[in-house]
Amino acid sequence: MRFSLRRTLLGLLVMVVLQLTVYYWVVAPDRRGRSPSLTRLTPLPRQDRDGPGTCDVKKCPEVKEGMINVHLIPHSHDDVGWLKTADQYFTGEYPKSKGGDIMYTEGMQCVRCVLSSTIRNLLLNPDRRFIFMEMAFLSRYWNEIDDRVRQQIKRLIESRQLEIVLGGWVMSDAAVTYYNDIIDQHTLGFDFIHKTFGPCAQSRVAWHVDQFGHSREHASIFSKMGYDGLFVGRVDFQDLAVRKKTKTLEFVWETSPNADDYSGNLFTQTTFDGYYAPRGFVLDGVENLFKGSRELENTLEFMNIVRERANAFRTNHLLLPMGSDFGYRVAGDWFKNMDKLIELVNAKQTEGKKKVIERERKINLLYSTPSCYLQHVHNSNLTWAVKTDDLHPYAIAPGAYWTGYFTSRSGQKLLVKHAGATLQACKQLGIFSRLKDSFDRTNVLRKAMAVMQHHDAITGTEKQHVSDDYNHMVSEGMLQCQSVISEAYNKMLETPEERRHYQFSFCPELNISSCPPTENGGKVVILVYNALSRPLNTWVRLPVTRQSVSVRGSKGEEVPSQLTAIPSGVSRLPRRSSESDTEVVFPAMLPAMGYTSFVLSTSQESAGGQIPMRTNTGKADIVMENKHLKVTFDGQTGRMKALENLSSKRSTKLSQDMAYYRAVQSGYRSSGAYVFIPEKELPHRVGGTDPVSVRYYQGELVQEIHQQFCPWVSQVVRLYKDSRHLEIQWTVGPIPTNDNQGKEVVSFFVSDLKSGGKFYTDSNGREVLERRLNHRETWNLTVVDAISGNYYPVTSRIFIQDVARDTQLTILPDRSQGGSSLYDGTLELMVHRRLLFDDALGVGEALNEQEGNDGITYTGKHYIFLDNIHNSAVLTREKALENHFSPTLTFLPLTSNSDSILTNMPKKSFLNKPLPNNVQVLTLDYTSDNHSTVYLLRLEHFYEKGESPILSTAATVKLQNLFSPFEVTEAEEVSLGGNFNPGTLKRHQWTTDNHHVNTPSIASSDYNELMESPFIVKLKPMEIRTFRVYVSGPSSSSLFFS
Ligand SMILES: [Zn+2]
Repeated sequence: MRFSLRRTLLGLLVMVVLQLTVYYWVVAPDRRGRSPSLTRLTPLPRQDRDGPGTCDVKKCPEVKEGMINVHLIPHSHDDVGWLKTADQYFTGEYPKSKGGDIMYTEGMQCVRCVLSSTIRNLLLNPDRRFIFMEMAFLSRYWNEIDDRVRQQIKRLIESRQLEIVLGGWVMSDAAVTYYNDIIDQHTLGFDFIHKTFGPCAQSRVAWHVDQFGHSREHASIFSKMGYDGLFVGRVDFQDLAVRKKTKTLEFVWETSPNADDYSGNLFTQTTFDGYYAPRGFVLDGVENLFKGSRELENTLEFMNIVRERANAFRTNHLLLPMGSDFGYRVAGDWFKNMDKLIELVNAKQTEGKKKVIERERKINLLYSTPSCYLQHVHNSNLTWAVKTDDLHPYAIAPGAYWTGYFTSRSGQKLLVKHAGATLQACKQLGIFSRLKDSFDRTNVLRKAMAVMQHHDAITGTEKQHVSDDYNHMVSEGMLQCQSVISEAYNKMLETPEERRHYQFSFCPELNISSCPPTENGGKVVILVYNALSRPLNTWVRLPVTRQSVSVRGSKGEEVPSQLTAIPSGVSRLPRRSSESDTEVVFPAMLPAMGYTSFVLSTSQESAGGQIPMRTNTGKADIVMENKHLKVTFDGQTGRMKALENLSSKRSTKLSQDMAYYRAVQSGYRSSGAYVFIPEKELPHRVGGTDPVSVRYYQGELVQEIHQQFCPWVSQVVRLYKDSRHLEIQWTVGPIPTNDNQGKEVVSFFVSDLKSGGKFYTDSNGREVLERRLNHRETWNLTVVDAISGNYYPVTSRIFIQDVARDTQLTILPDRSQGGSSLYDGTLELMVHRRLLFDDALGVGEALNEQEGNDGITYTGKHYIFLDNIHNSAVLTREKALENHFSPTLTFLPLTSNSDSILTNMPKKSFLNKPLPNNVQVLTLDYTSDNHSTVYLLRLEHFYEKGESPILSTAATVKLQNLFSPFEVTEAEEVSLGGNFNPGTLKRHQWTTDNHHVNTPSIASSDYNELMESPFIVKLKPMEIRTFRVYVSGPSSSSLFFS
């Protein structure tokens, strides 16, 4: 993580707290006196027959029977940051240094210009159409234009000349994103569309043309949001060739084996050749394509292209993207040429028989949109090929598998995780404490998190200065959210007699063991908030500088604690300003959706807190053991050699090493930000065959093996008391490049499990997909890249199974990483990459992140589970949730006159009673109306069918008294994106070659439009249901002591 702006941010935090204090005393009393009102909001959109998003179909252009109808799709592909920041792309301006002054120069990419030029050009000709995707840009444009232009846009949307396809805040990446974040970023976009343009503006087509491969889970989310079709632009070159030959570029994707009635099925097209206009017809800067002799030449050329492409499709319709990256800055170039092209080609169809073209299929060109195209394909009543796996990994050619970005910019990927957890806590605490003005502050992080899901943000495929800008934006959002959390705690602490204005602080660098409030000595109150809707038993680790430490719990009781050494790799990090070399570790039992508090006291007076340490002087094996697990390290080599689960009686030989692949950096393409191109050889152990130096810290609460593999790679293997998994904290960097060799570092596990060439990875953190080595489900794979071609995105977990031994080995990373199982019984996860060359795919920079004058060092965690197959499913699902909703820690140093209220804060859960063990609150959020008595609530069943005889069954939740701060008085179910009533929607039905027909409804079989108290909700495996809940007003009693 790069928090280079730390001091500035701390300064900003102080300012925010000061402002809050001012707000609290000046503004808040009036607001607080107001009595709550329960006003129903505008009802959700309802349509007569076909539901929202189909309002467009009646306005589709005419087509001609018997001809190839070519649907020209004018569009501009506008990345929300890539080579320039999102802001630079929007304004078209970028800073250019000139003689010490910063000048602003207009660049070729300017989304503001695209929109204004396109709108003017659409108004000139009612036949012209245009599609737009990113609400991050459209909402910004909307905010700066006058009412005249706003009315023009509304009319263009109504006439369907301008169609919003997709409608997310950004076009999210499909590999390394987490499902909750994907849903949230679309909800944000849909909110804007619905509020600004009404329900008809949202098309039911997903345009996902630049993702680097595509996940099944993202497609599944689209189906549940009510989309009828998905267009993807990038699939493996081998897959694409087969699909062209077999006319299966269009298919029905069965996106969820857990969805009943094939409701997860989604019609999908992989475009013929990406999203650009055909070569020679990219029209930016082209004044007249048809000058003189070029008129006939270009017309015939275009017709040849159309015929070639049409042959790969089964209907008389061809979708033809007419766009480019940031195209349409001068939209007239495109539209004038396309007007002419349509006129010329269509005129050819009516000329006499002497024309050669008469023997060919006739062509009808028209301006169109993806939803109009889809309607005609649907009307063709064909049956379609089926796909049940996903579209990862993606390769454009031999030696170019886009599997490097699964790991690229590892720190940024972790920042997204931390920010996501903070956002959940911030939303929940703001709502539970009934803050009335926290919506806008929360929105800063909500929007930043949405932008981070963009396919050149979280992927790490942007330029360094753009990555810096993203990190800055997220840090800003986190500061705003921290101010909400502080205010929420203050509000909870107040009594009728006294208001509070404590200045809480946060430790964003806790992952590198830096936290000034706990290192400064004295007494510190620590509030730990658990955003999970289940109780959580976890461990808190905090850096301290004094040697005598005591921890007390919320009732003043003593909490057992232990000191341990901060890993040497971490304490040496150049960006770490902390002097501390010791951490205190203590257990925290956190209530569901609630908090507990601790008081940490440190002093130098007593010497009671020595770190228990044993250096491995002999050559005997070292064994770490608790009541569940036993892990053995070889006394000779210092490396792990066996893992045993004592409870479930499962064991395996298990060695673990850190190793690196040497990056290919010659020839046409080098390994880079997108692609992973290793030399064709086994990975090299870091430190060679030398023994690993080992220190063993044997404490009551946690045992740790500190291993130093070589000067730039170290790790700690931890076994906590009673823990059912092993934790490995790796620290890697600076990766040496003095040999001019880029390196890609993996953590490599070798077990004796017979995994039979199969392994499993999650899809966007949710359903699990089986992977088979050197195999693809729908075509015969020619193996050209045995390593990178078998890498898959691991968002939350990867595992192998030995079915005969009923044994599963699972690894959960703390952020998205690339992973594989390349040999029987092995698992590997790539943790860090440092590369010296660009991969010639556009970014134009080597992925060589710097810190000071050297490569950056990262530290992170892997959680290792060995258990029987059933236990593994349950334990790892729970741990994956915990990783995503990790606890939020808030600190308050106690001064001598701090009152006792802080040292006696009781535990508090905002849930009245626990949810069933297979259900969680996925979302508790404000609605975009920012109404203090209406919230968005998503409940999720987080098990798949067949994972557990008990937990994979349906569950029931009553909404009425679910939360303690308020009662749910009304509830209405909405679609997954929160933007319409699911009972009103009828999706297209598609028949597959194996006779599966999807149900047209996306509503749950249990859906009831008129929900009555106590609002009982039933959830089936993997089902997510979304509600708008209307709740009782705030009570006047103290939330804290109720
Ligand atoms: Zn893009």
